Amino acid sequence: MMRIDLHTHSWASDGTESPTDLVAAARAAGVDVVALTDHDTAAGWDEAKAEAQRDGRIVLVPGVEISCRREGTSLHLLGYRFDPDHPALAEELRRLRNDRVPRAQAIVRRMSAAGLPLTWEDVKACMVPEAVLGRPHLADAMIEKGMVGSREEAFARYLHRNSPYYVAHRALDPAVAVGLLRAAGGVAVLAHPARRGAVVSDQLVAELRDAGMAGMEVDHPDHDPAARDRLRALASDLSLLPTGSSDYHGTGKVNRLAEGTTDPEVYEALLAPATGSEAAGREVA
Ligand code: AMP
Ligand code: ZN
Ligand code: FE
Ligand code: FE
Repeated sequence: MMRIDLHTHSWASDGTESPTDLVAAARAAGVDVVALTDHDTAAGWDEAKAEAQRDGRIVLVPGVEISCRREGTSLHLLGYRFDPDHPALAEELRRLRNDRVPRAQAIVRRMSAAGLPLTWEDVKACMVPEAVLGRPHLADAMIEKGMVGSREEAFARYLHRNSPYYVAHRALDPAVAVGLLRAAGGVAVLAHPARRGAVVSDQLVAELRDAGMAGMEVDHPDHDPAARDRLRALASDLSLLPTGSSDYHGTGKVNRLAEGTTDPEVYEALLAPATGSEAAGREVA
């Protein structure tokens, strides 16, 4: 049976491993197909592709996880095999990334103002320079400072959405993001629609389907069995492809590679229409 994991993060965003090490770890875990879906960036693709092609035993699907928001609800949209040089999409991704720097600085300022011993230099010291900044990097700096013992604790105490230090980052309307991914030759899948505290309404899922979204994550570590049953039925009603994945972040999260997997037939149907990365001369493994 093929093991297909369609959602992972490297240190190009907030995972803890290089794209090379991530692909090697997936291969070692017996994964046959792995998608690299860093937040708002395709920067890890070339390195991950090179590692996948090195021995050919694993297929890399180039992807992204786009930050979206609709009426105050934050949601994440996965995109696969799009043209990373498509001008409108590339520009929106660049804006999302650029906004994360002043946003993280604002969170650090709020913490400093409250007397917490965290500085911008601490944050820069625990990430690769090209990483797309997220709260997990602030968490890592707090661990280094001895303020908390884990990312989990940093989120629970300081970084959660209702924290006095929290500042939101720029996000795209999800229907706009679906349109951009499709225009760039890619396919769109709704990430973790039933994540605790941020459940996406059935109505919005239907709207995104109508906008051209192809699938949604059903088997995700943040979904309990009842949520998976509900989402599987909704996917069937709306003719959306039900995917499974790990949302692996290296040592930054408890999620293990291939903790959730996608059925091979679903994978084939999902990726068949994608033309983006091929069109750009970036056919991968
Ligand atoms: P941001 O993009 O800055 O809003 O941060 C969101 C990221 O933080 C997501 O990629 C999550 O994977 C990660 N995250 C959220 N909650 C936690 C947690 N409790 N422990 C570790 N990582 C988390
Ligand atoms: Zn993440
Ligand atoms: Fe996500
Ligand atoms: Fe993710």
